[in-house]
Amino acid sequence: MRKSVIKLAVVATVGLGTSFGAIPAKTEAESISKLKEEQNKIHEQRSDLNSNINQANDKITNLQGQQTSVKSELKRLDLAISDATTKIDEKQAKIEDTKAQIAELQEETKVLKDRIKKRNVLLKDRARSYQDTGGMVNYLDVLMGSTSFSDFIDRANAVATIMQADQDILKQHEADKNELEEKQSQVEKDLASLKKMLADLETMNKQLTAQKAEKDKLLGSLESQEHEAHEGMLDLKEQEEILAAQEISIQKTIKQEQERQAREAAAAAAAAAAKKKAAASSNSGSSSNSSSNSSSSSAAAPQVSSGSFTRPAPGVVTSGYGGRWGSFHWGVDIAQSGNNVPIVAAADGVVSVAHYSSSYGNVVYISHSINGQVYTTVYAHMSGYQVSPGQTVSKGQRIGTMGNTGDSHGQHLHFELYKGPWAYHSAINPIGIVPI
Ligand SMILES: [Zn+2]
Repeated sequence: MRKSVIKLAVVATVGLGTSFGAIPAKTEAESISKLKEEQNKIHEQRSDLNSNINQANDKITNLQGQQTSVKSELKRLDLAISDATTKIDEKQAKIEDTKAQIAELQEETKVLKDRIKKRNVLLKDRARSYQDTGGMVNYLDVLMGSTSFSDFIDRANAVATIMQADQDILKQHEADKNELEEKQSQVEKDLASLKKMLADLETMNKQLTAQKAEKDKLLGSLESQEHEAHEGMLDLKEQEEILAAQEISIQKTIKQEQERQAREAAAAAAAAAAKKKAAASSNSGSSSNSSSNSSSSSAAAPQVSSGSFTRPAPGVVTSGYGGRWGSFHWGVDIAQSGNNVPIVAAADGVVSVAHYSSSYGNVVYISHSINGQVYTTVYAHMSGYQVSPGQTVSKGQRIGTMGNTGDSHGQHLHFELYKGPWAYHSAINPIGIVPI
């Protein structure tokens, strides 16, 4: 008996017979406990998010640690490379010196060869003179032709002196040749060893440079990973903020629901009392009810529907909910050209978030309680908004202006609907619930 009265009252307040928002009515206790359940869910999601944020922080710290060690490796490689480069310069200078030495020796060789050539001429001349006079045999003739013993001695001495001089020339000749050969082979050995050292250093330098390039690449990848982790954490933090804000707006919604139910109970009691007093009166629950047309927006605003939900913006649907271009579109896009295109609240509710996000641009989140079922609506890419968190808004009330802010290409409203509180990637298709 009592239950049916309550049901009637709930049906009367929650929209008069629209195909949209055909949500089954619930008892007061049920609706409040459902709201509280949602609030607990948000709380759980927040603690999950916070542990994700901590993980992201750990990851960033770890990546930074890796970067530090790669940087010290790079420093070591830089020092090694500069050391190798110095040594290469030194070896190259030495090679130049040695080449100069070789050039000098070549000059000396030329001089010596000239000298040897001259000596050869001298020796040949002498040999020719021996030949002319009969060569070695003539020495004997010279000795035999001596007129006395002292003459013989004189002649023998002269012959010995001439022979000794020839011997000395030949010895000097030999020594010069040997010395030069030795010097040349030593210098050539030096040059070969310098060239080998230079080649080794150049190989080492090449290896070090390759190692450095690899480390540079690793550092770049670590840096971009850290950048990504940072961005991921910013996303998580934004999600956490939204959840925290929702906790507050749902708390407010619960309070409003409790107040509404108290009013209903009072009205039901009054009606029952009236029914008792006036025995047979005509009783029709014509509650003209909250059409709440505080939507003082421009003429372009869509007409407010009588159901729980109304269309959030004028214009054409340019993109529906679902897969598109290989990704998933979590809302419905409504586009309308012109300035000052109004965006309105899709249902009565409490604003939980009104901020700027890099992806959504100027965006507003509203928590609704429709028969104890929490819904959340999101209005993205607005050029501006005129509500603030905690503010109660009514269906059709202007909340902002259509725009092209955030990750958007062309002026449109990106509208999302959630059954329950907002949670990452859990929006549902609004078609069939919201009259779009
Ligand atoms: Zn969209």
